[in-house]
Amino acid sequence: MKRESIPDLTNSALTRPPAAWASEHLEGLLIPTSVLQDRVTQLANEIAASRPREEPLLVLSLLSGAFLFTADLVRHWTFPFELDFIKVASYGSQTLPGELSWKHDIQSPVKDKHLLILDDILDTGQTLHQVTSRLQEEQPASIRTCVCLEKNGTQARPFPFHADHVGFIIPDRFVIGYGLDFDLKFRQFPFIGVLNPDPYASGNH
Ligand code: 5GP
Ligand code: MG
Repeated sequence: MKRESIPDLTNSALTRPPAAWASEHLEGLLIPTSVLQDRVTQLANEIAASRPREEPLLVLSLLSGAFLFTADLVRHWTFPFELDFIKVASYGSQTLPGELSWKHDIQSPVKDKHLLILDDILDTGQTLHQVTSRLQEEQPASIRTCVCLEKNGTQARPFPFHADHVGFIIPDRFVIGYGLDFDLKFRQFPFIGVLNPDPYASGNH
C-alpha cells in the first residue's frame, strides 16, 4: 500500500461530537463514524485484492482494542479464512506505554499459514514488533499486518514498524473510541475522539 494514499489527519481540527456523546472526557471528534466506516470498507477491499491467493489464511485480531475494527472489517470478506484473537496489553490505567504482556492462546496451528494481524493503533510499534517476532518463530507462510490508526511520528522513531495496511495517520494525541479505551471506558464510541487529558481543567464539568 502506498503511504501517499493513507488519509493523513495530522493537522485536522477537532470537531464537536454528536450531542448524545458529549462528555467532559472528550476533547473533540477526530474521525466521525461515516468517515471511519467508508475507510474500513476501502481497507477491506484493499486487503481482499492484495491477499495471498493460497490458503490457509489465519486472521489474528489483537484484543481488546481491535474488537470493533475487526468486526467491521471482516464482515466485508466472502473468501475463506480462520479468525482468532490474541489478548495483548501494553497499557494499564495510564496513557503511557508499559510492559507488554500477551497471552498466546491461538486455537489452531500457525505453521505454514498466511497470517493477517489486525490491531487498533500503531504508536511505538512495540506491540506489533513483539507479536510478529514471536509468531515468526512458529514458521507461518507469511505475516501481514493491518492497523486502523497510525500515530504521526511513529515512523520517525529509531525502530519504526511498518504495517502493510493503515486506515488513517493521526496526530500524536491519546485517542479513544472505536475499541480504544481509557481506563476500560469509551471503547463503544462509534467514532475516534481525542481524550481530554484533564476534564477538570476545562471548566465544563
Ligand atoms: P504500541 O505498542 O505501538 O506503542 O501501542 C500499541 C497499543 O497501545 C495499541 O494497541 C493500544 O492498545 C495502545 N495505544 C497506543 N496509543 C493509544 C491511544 O492513543 N489511545 C489508546 N486508547 N490506546 C493507545
Ligand atoms: Mg491494543
